[in-house]
Amino acid sequence: MKKIISVLTAGVLAFSLTACGKKSDDSNTIKIAYLPITHSLAVLETADELAAQTGLQVELVKYGSWTELTDALNSGRVDGASVLIELAMKSKEQGIGIKAVALGHKDGNVIITSSDITSAEDLKGKTIAIPHRQSSHNILLNDALATAGLTIDDINVTELAPTEMPSALAGGQIDGYCVAEPFGAKAVSLGAGKVLFTSEELWEDSLCCGLVLTDTFIENHSEDAKTFVKSYKQAGQNLTKEQAMETATKYLNQDEDVLELSLQWISYDDLEITEENYSTLTEKVKAYGLSENPPSYADFVKNDFE
Ligand code: ZN
Repeated sequence: MKKIISVLTAGVLAFSLTACGKKSDDSNTIKIAYLPITHSLAVLETADELAAQTGLQVELVKYGSWTELTDALNSGRVDGASVLIELAMKSKEQGIGIKAVALGHKDGNVIITSSDITSAEDLKGKTIAIPHRQSSHNILLNDALATAGLTIDDINVTELAPTEMPSALAGGQIDGYCVAEPFGAKAVSLGAGKVLFTSEELWEDSLCCGLVLTDTFIENHSEDAKTFVKSYKQAGQNLTKEQAMETATKYLNQDEDVLELSLQWISYDDLEITEENYSTLTEKVKAYGLSENPPSYADFVKNDFE
């Protein structure tokens, strides 16, 4: 019965697409996975803009955690994702056919701590949360410790879901955290924490999230991939503070004051992954033990969509 229904649906779909002059297969839909964070706003903005401008539809697939999102990407259930670049590098390292085609955003991370921590030295012996070992949040924490001659061995690191971090800090289970936004801004808004460092104070032109596409999609739908990546970069340019606020309000279900604070820390213009910035990232990934053998720029980054 299921089969009959899907055949019927496909028939209706083919008819309706043909009727409006589009291809009768699904090649003008691209499925992109995302998490509801300010770091994925460029993808969300692109979906809105593309639907209005071209026949290419972006099907946004929302996930609740990086683990679920990475599973979907690695198993080919989506054509691409806005994802922590270190997680994507790890997938690539494990043989998954994906390419990083743009940055998710620029800057946009903070290290949040309880009020009794006023310097990097004070982090010693404290419990600090990160979302995943494979993240720029882990790197930024290592960078912060290094400013005081400390290492990750001088603190307790715990992995927590981003949504749990503000309340864990407020409840005293952790002393601080670094995670995708707006969960840092949320603690500030709640009065539970303050900004100890912004990402640019620790790592200039830091990389964090990347837009990745599967090799299968790039090979089988090269024109759509090109249209999507070009539109994505333009959407980043269009994300002024005002537009970012509008898109974030539409998709993220967060309080206005939290979003306003968070969006002060992030920008989306010029989302190119440069060889120089990627090289800094791979050095940090190796130095802090995230990976011994990160993928090379040539293997992993695709910049020739123009
Ligand atoms: Zn990010």
